[in-house]
Amino acid sequence: MSKERFEDLRNQLDEVNLELLNVLNKRAKLVEEIGTLKSGKGTERFDPIREKEMLDKVVAANEGPFSNETVAHLFKQVFQASLVLQEEEKKHLLISRKTQKQDTIVEIGNLRVGGEQPIIIAGPCSVETVDQMEKTAAGIRAEGVTFLRGGAYKPRTSPYDFQGLGVEGLKILSETAKRHGMVCVSEIVAPEDVEMACEYIDVIQIGARNMQNFELLKAAGEVRKPILLKRGLSATIEELLYAAEYIASRGNSQIILCERGIRTYEKATRNTLDISAVPILKQESHLPVVVDVSHSTGRKDIMFPIAKAALAVGADGLIIETHCEPSVALSDAKQQLDLHQFAKIMGELKSSGYIKEEALVK
Ligand code: PEP
Ligand code: MN
Repeated sequence: MSKERFEDLRNQLDEVNLELLNVLNKRAKLVEEIGTLKSGKGTERFDPIREKEMLDKVVAANEGPFSNETVAHLFKQVFQASLVLQEEEKKHLLISRKTQKQDTIVEIGNLRVGGEQPIIIAGPCSVETVDQMEKTAAGIRAEGVTFLRGGAYKPRTSPYDFQGLGVEGLKILSETAKRHGMVCVSEIVAPEDVEMACEYIDVIQIGARNMQNFELLKAAGEVRKPILLKRGLSATIEELLYAAEYIASRGNSQIILCERGIRTYEKATRNTLDISAVPILKQESHLPVVVDVSHSTGRKDIMFPIAKAALAVGADGLIIETHCEPSVALSDAKQQLDLHQFAKIMGELKSSGYIKEEALVK
């Protein structure tokens, strides 16, 4: 072959490459347009039947020299690339920073979660008795904390363990909070209970074990109460964000995300606190993020450094399980602080400057 012919063929190849590029991008634009139309109608973007039809047509038209298998493989790659392009859809999530630049501030009574000052949520693992709630709330309130927690529906590992007082527990929690000028949060586990719970509590908690209970997420999206959404035991950050999107997509944008530790092989702590999740969540989403220092560590002895670490990386608040008499608590007895220990950690957070005196209510 002459040198000229060789050069000519190479030049032709360069031209065909550019033509291919143009045609591929033309196709991508068409796919994008179809994707926009589909999302308007709420139709799934990936359509395997349509993809099979397209592949069959292309293979039937193939005259070689590529084999049908090679042609099918190449086109499959092109289809795949178009789907990846549609992943860009993520930037349009309602809970994404790309959709809303400024931080969402969730207002609960006088409290502003996601505002200038971090908030503290404290209270027992479970609501047990009127007396237990009264003593615990009084102790917490004396430290200037006005956000009370207490579980009434307890998703326990064993069915033989204390399951919570149910609606009676919600009533006790609500009445205690009101008596002390506090707001309250409690976990709801059944979609049909969400609306009922709104009568009693200020914030609905969706617990780790229910982070991907999609019917519960949808029910939480239908009400106009703030939702505290905890990260699942083995959920990725992306899955937590999509769970929050379920709620937001139904019109409830008052969502607080909670990092509460994930399950790893480490046994020194109850769960492994994924501290990097905090700044990542704050970067990816405009929603406030709190850290549960109790369920993540399961240990009182490291709670103060962990609380400091959480606030240092930008958490908007902390959850600290506190009980007037932890040794007789019906759940999570080991990890709950007593009122003395709670006062101590609050004092330490204040003196180290993480919690400002003016952010507390006297
Ligand atoms: C709780 O906060 O009471 C609780 C059960 O936590 P988690 O869902 O994070 O395990
Ligand atoms: Mn607990």
